[in-house]
Amino acid sequence: MLDRRVFIDYRKNPVLPDSQELQVTRDADELVLTFLEKSDAMLETPIQRLAAMNQPAIDLFRKNGINLIKDSLEIDICAQHCNGGLSASIWWESNIQNLFPVGEINGSHGVYRPGGSALNSGQVGGIRAAMFINSTVSKYRLKHDHFISMIEFQIQDTIEMMDYWRSEGEGVELESEFSQMRMRMSRNAGVFRNLDTSRLARDEAREQLARIPTFNNIEPGDIPEVFYLKDHLICQLAFLESIVEYLEKDGGSRGSFLVLDAKGDLVLPWDQTARYVLDSQDGFTRKNQLLMEWDGGSFKKSWRKTRGIPGESEWFETAWKKYRERKIIKR
Ligand SMILES: Cc1cc2nc3c(=O)[nH]c(=O)nc-3n(C[C@H](O)[C@H](O)[C@H](O)COP(=O)(O)OP(=O)(O)OC[C@H]3O[C@@H](n4cnc5c(N)ncnc54)[C@H](O)[C@@H]3O)c2cc1C
Repeated sequence: MLDRRVFIDYRKNPVLPDSQELQVTRDADELVLTFLEKSDAMLETPIQRLAAMNQPAIDLFRKNGINLIKDSLEIDICAQHCNGGLSASIWWESNIQNLFPVGEINGSHGVYRPGGSALNSGQVGGIRAAMFINSTVSKYRLKHDHFISMIEFQIQDTIEMMDYWRSEGEGVELESEFSQMRMRMSRNAGVFRNLDTSRLARDEAREQLARIPTFNNIEPGDIPEVFYLKDHLICQLAFLESIVEYLEKDGGSRGSFLVLDAKGDLVLPWDQTARYVLDSQDGFTRKNQLLMEWDGGSFKKSWRKTRGIPGESEWFETAWKKYRERKIIKR
């Protein structure tokens, strides 16, 4: 499915399954007609409608060498954002004290986050983390010697690994390593998901990550790239492990991905090649949240019950006073 090339052609209306060309006034439903009427775009062809609503879009494509009036436009699917992420408190503090994952990296970007609220969420997170840091963190300052003793062995391991990467050997094609990693993610962690292929992808990611310490003959200038590859593979493994775990618990399609299953419903009524299953409203994966912990070699997985939306019982005046006096900030 992912190997098909797909084009949008603004020059003519799409052809419907009954081989007739779509006519807006005849075929569009009420919502579309109202939208077009209100936008002053009740016109015959897609390019006329686009020009009426958003000429700058046409100009932008033309500036980049694509003339929508004459040519069709190749499109592809792209993951827009990530749901799920690092676990943190309501003050955006992670389980590593004084580490604040703010933004899309935070697990508060869950599957039910309303579209368009990501930027707000990052801003709110930044302010709340700053309030928290301002009120509490100075009390928890790490002593220099303690910090060194904690990280010394990690630095030693890293230096030894870099020495190995620099040693003689048959070398490695970094470009190909990156392309394998990226392709694996696009194929298995995007809009279409499937248990068998996700398991294979997870095993491949594990295997690729395990190979990194054996890389050799790396140019000094390429060493940062190897770290980048390693970090991304750990991240990729986290995603693929969680996808496999979700599918093994009978999790189905939700959010913006389809779980493909030969026993499910057709994705498109006229195409027999792809079927999907929906997530069950009261199934295990709706009521529980997956937690994963990296121990340096693998992920430990556990599930915990999701929390309900808290009811608001606090009186405004007392809540505001607590806020002003910073009494709301607790670790
Ligand atoms: C096409 C698209 C449309 C969107 N539309 C909307 C919308 O309409 N409304 C909305 O609310 N949200 C929207 N989003 C989502 C929103 O833009 C993101 O969730 C948000 O920008 C994430 O902010 P962030 O600060 O967490 O991450 P980012 O904005 O991705 O910032 C992370 C930064 O870290 C840098 N970085 C990465 N690795 C390293 C490293 N190793 N060292 C140093 N720096 C590093 C990156 O270069 C980047 O600048 C959209 C996203 C996309 C892709």
